[in-house]
Amino acid sequence: MKRLLVVLVALGGAAFWWRRRSSGGAADGWSAAATTPPESPSEPLGGEVDPELLAILACPLDKQPVTRQGNYLVCQECQRHYPIRDGIPVMLIDEALTPEQAAAAPA
Ligand SMILES: [Zn+2]
Repeated sequence: MKRLLVVLVALGGAAFWWRRRSSGGAADGWSAAATTPPESPSEPLGGEVDPELLAILACPLDKQPVTRQGNYLVCQECQRHYPIRDGIPVMLIDEALTPEQAAAAPA
């Protein structure tokens, strides 16, 4: 049940990423980007995450456990920051902040 939820979250995130990626063509991508800014997801960061869900989540890169730090889940191994959007952890390497980006971003 919980694993299914994680898979659904990952698929939803992947679909979101793909839709975003394919909405902007090579030639007229900028006009499309004007209506849907790629770096401004509508979901607010943060929200409550089910502690049981948190306990089974792992970094997709190195399969290490993650711990919550503010609005992000941080991998104990590679220190990537996975955003929590409206209570949904986005466990995608593509969406994660690197330690360098996280240091530069507001908390
Ligand atoms: Zn990691």
